[in-house]
Amino acid sequence: MAVSGAPTTDHAAPPPAGLRQAIRLQDFTTWKVGGPAEWFAEPATTAELLALLHWGESLGLPLHCIGAGSNLLIADAGLPGLSVCLRRLQGSQLDRTEGWVEAAAGEPIPTLARKAARAGLSGLEWAVGIPGTVGGAVVMNAGAQGGCTAEWLHSVQVVDRRRPDQPFELSAGALAFAYRHSRLQQEPLVVLSARFRLAAGHDPTAVTARTSANLHSRTSTQPYQQPSCGSVFRNPEPEKAGRLIEALGLKGLRRGGAEVSPVHANFIVNTGSATADDIDGLIRSVQERVVASHGITLHPEVKRLGFPSPTST
Ligand SMILES: Cc1cc2nc3c(=O)[nH]c(=O)nc-3n(C[C@H](O)[C@H](O)[C@H](O)COP(=O)(O)OP(=O)(O)OC[C@H]3O[C@@H](n4cnc5c(N)ncnc54)[C@H](O)[C@@H]3O)c2cc1C
Repeated sequence: MAVSGAPTTDHAAPPPAGLRQAIRLQDFTTWKVGGPAEWFAEPATTAELLALLHWGESLGLPLHCIGAGSNLLIADAGLPGLSVCLRRLQGSQLDRTEGWVEAAAGEPIPTLARKAARAGLSGLEWAVGIPGTVGGAVVMNAGAQGGCTAEWLHSVQVVDRRRPDQPFELSAGALAFAYRHSRLQQEPLVVLSARFRLAAGHDPTAVTARTSANLHSRTSTQPYQQPSCGSVFRNPEPEKAGRLIEALGLKGLRRGGAEVSPVHANFIVNTGSATADDIDGLIRSVQERVVASHGITLHPEVKRLGFPSPTST
């Protein structure tokens, strides 16, 4: 069915089902900020996703991938082009004998960690407190409590958004993983699914207990009840960003509705009325103070979409 107002050209693919206009992206980010997407869809199958990519590409629209939006700062002005949220692309298969785990890009990583624990598969206990998707975890090389995605990932199924007819596989070794980094952050590739190799044959009760303990230790030291994106800045090793910020007495520093969390200095929380501009301004303000006092430039871990420059300076 044609979508009213959908752009068309002689070469345009037909507008796919599920395409929506002017959707507020604040409902798709954990910071609860972000203006409207010009075009938006939440595909539930790989075929739907590929049809969307094909349509967007046929019109030359910019493409923005959103997982759970737990590491995204989206501008108040919103995003031009096509924004695709992958969180409905869920599902996983676990092989409890050999440890193979295959998960769709939108599977919540805490759900996968719980399933793995119940199957006696060890390796993802650290992932239970990270409120992202499998795709977002791969792109970001998410990690916590000594573990990270790169350590357990075997390969990913990806598609180049410019050639959506040809999904292909990349091995973990080809992804140039580093601390909170993968080459997927620079390339026009969309993660469709991921394959992990976990350690099989563990006692499900013990793995589940470790997983639950990890979640408890995080929720008791981080402001999980308020909208945030987790740690805003990468740790400038060997320093910790939170410690540098706290040492300057910046906990509680506010800009509009954004606040440096009094609980954890590397978190910026939305106290209820924050805009993306408030958060962006507070990020810059913290950066300026840390560089002035410690001589260290903090680099955001959070990805900014829709701002004039790709990262805060
Ligand atoms: C309370 C809280 C605690 C957190 N704790 C941690 C932590 O301990 N460790 C940690 O590493 N992170 C942490 N985070 C940050 C965040 O959860 C992770 O970075 C997570 O991996 C992001 O996943 P996502 O699905 O939300 O990705 P998004 O935030 O939606 O996207 C992140 C990036 O990945 C891209 N992307 C997403 N999915 C795909 C896909 N399928 N294909 C291609 N590109 C894609 C996006 O375009 C964007 O560039 C925390 C966040 C919160 C809110």
